[in-house]
Amino acid sequence: MINKSTVYLAISISLISLTAVSRGQDSEPQKLVCSTTQIADFARNIVGPHWTVQSILGPGQDPHTHEVTAANAKMVAEAHLCLQNGWNLEGHAWMEKLCKESGKKCVTCVQGVRPRKIDEEGRVIDDPHAWFSIPRAKIYIRNIYRAVSAADPANKTEYLQNASRYILELDELDAWIRKQLSVLKGPRVLATHHDAFGYFAEEYNFKIVSLAKWSTEEIGGGSTLGRRRELIDTIRKKGVKAIFAETSIDPAIMETIAQETGARLGGKLYSDAMGAKGSSGETYLEMMKANVKTIVKALQ
Ligand SMILES: [Zn+2]
Repeated sequence: MINKSTVYLAISISLISLTAVSRGQDSEPQKLVCSTTQIADFARNIVGPHWTVQSILGPGQDPHTHEVTAANAKMVAEAHLCLQNGWNLEGHAWMEKLCKESGKKCVTCVQGVRPRKIDEEGRVIDDPHAWFSIPRAKIYIRNIYRAVSAADPANKTEYLQNASRYILELDELDAWIRKQLSVLKGPRVLATHHDAFGYFAEEYNFKIVSLAKWSTEEIGGGSTLGRRRELIDTIRKKGVKAIFAETSIDPAIMETIAQETGARLGGKLYSDAMGAKGSSGETYLEMMKANVKTIVKALQ
């Protein structure tokens, strides 16, 4: 006589073996394709050996102005799952379009994140650079964890452990940043090429001024003569000692503004892209530390 629990056990075993067949220990890693370097780094910290993580953008590449290539389309076509930032960081929704074309699921990492609102000449925009707020970066981690766990439930426990460990590292990073920035005595102004640091400024009490507002391309305002004047006026009025270029944008204009205002060019910050392998911005944690060191050195 077969009782209920025996049937349940039999079903469970068959489910387990089905899972083992589809995602066994020796199975090929699945492919996770991310739009930006930061998202790819977050993902690598969660997925361990179970996924191969690729990024469409390379170090120093600008997501606002990126134009997709045949190689990008091929990468997405071979993916099992895709991740994007969202809120139009990927200018003209290039990641969503790539995913749609090849019928791939595209998970948006900012879902559930509280947006910083930007008033763009009467139009309210959600600032896409949310990874610069550590509490919000943790929501990216949660979203990535959920996405990979849904696609590969067999390794869910491992993903949860990895995500939890990484969140502790983010907390340590936050404490480290606050300690480093506590030495700043002068005006806490971050003058940069574009407004990538709004969330960072909100977390760590800076005022931001920039040439090109939230995006480096026309839809985000781009840079205009009026904005250039506003940036120069603020630097002079606030007595800003140093201004910053960004690793993903040509520094030439910021060099000119430094000469014109007498402010120093305080170095390059990692904004929309991380650095190359072996650089100070190789990972999100390193990138954040490198930026803080550059800011402290220049504004101290
Ligand atoms: Zn940007």
